Amino acid sequence: MDSGDVTQLKIGFIGAGNMAFGIAKGILSWKVPAGNLKVSAPSDTNLQRFQEVGVAVTHSNVEAVCGSDVVFVAVKPHLVPVVLSEVFGSVTKDQMIVSVAAGVTLATLEELLPEASVAVRLMPNLPCVVQEGALLFSLGSKAKREHSVLLRSLLQGCGLVEEGPEAWIDVHTGSSGSGVAFVYLFAEALAEGSVKMGMPSALAHSLAAQTVLGAGRLLRDSGKHPAQLRSEVCTPGGTTIYGLHTLERGGVRAATISAVESATDRARELG
Ligand code: NAP
Repeated sequence: MDSGDVTQLKIGFIGAGNMAFGIAKGILSWKVPAGNLKVSAPSDTNLQRFQEVGVAVTHSNVEAVCGSDVVFVAVKPHLVPVVLSEVFGSVTKDQMIVSVAAGVTLATLEELLPEASVAVRLMPNLPCVVQEGALLFSLGSKAKREHSVLLRSLLQGCGLVEEGPEAWIDVHTGSSGSGVAFVYLFAEALAEGSVKMGMPSALAHSLAAQTVLGAGRLLRDSGKHPAQLRSEVCTPGGTTIYGLHTLERGGVRAATISAVESATDRARELG
């Protein structure tokens, strides 16, 4: 498999849900023609939006696999054994099979695939749909460096793409997969605080969303540690340090650390 020009690659998706669509959008945003993609799902419900952007659709998982260089398996975790047994005879050693299913380990994937198959476990998160995902992948035992290079290159339109040992996948699920919901909870509370202080709800929510977005972009783009940025906002005796003190009294930091810990533990349990 040539790891150079990803625009030439044929890409299949088994499953047409939110995650498949998010990844496909990211791939398409990076000069890969829609005609190179093919997606399968049992019903037309989710296939329509792929069709609207020029991606070929099918009800046959085998068809999505045949002729594809990279195949994303994007069905619910309990369906992974079902779909892989269906396509088993069509998978070749030249293909890369990338599962995004939470909790399905590389060992399980390699058991379910033909012996020489190149398996990869990828954990994306929902902001892939706006090309701002945080993605972590781990390579299976048959994968080589070129597979890693190719995958990074293919997914660059989805957001930040990193590689790590499989043990980190569950941690990433807890911190960035579930973490998206933690940030939404915080954004919601931020807006509710403004509503409590008299601001209309719609305005409070749009300002809270922009605050989360702006803080996130500044954190990422500045490369600074969050504690440094936080201290830069804190005028001595000013509003922010008063607010931060209240948050610390409420145990927000410990609660967030514990939230990542319990979400990671749960991901491990499900695996
Ligand atoms: P989803 O929106 O429910 O989509 C699941 C897709 O699988 C649907 O298109 C469904 O078809 C299709 N499907 C069901 N049975 C199938 C079969 N036998 N053959 C082929 N396709 C079949 O789920 P999702 O949120 O995209 O999640 C997909 C995977 O991504 C899960 O394993 C999840 O763990 C993982 N993941 C999700 C997130 C997230 O934030 N959503 C984050 C990280 C990882 P229909 O369209 O006909 O219903």
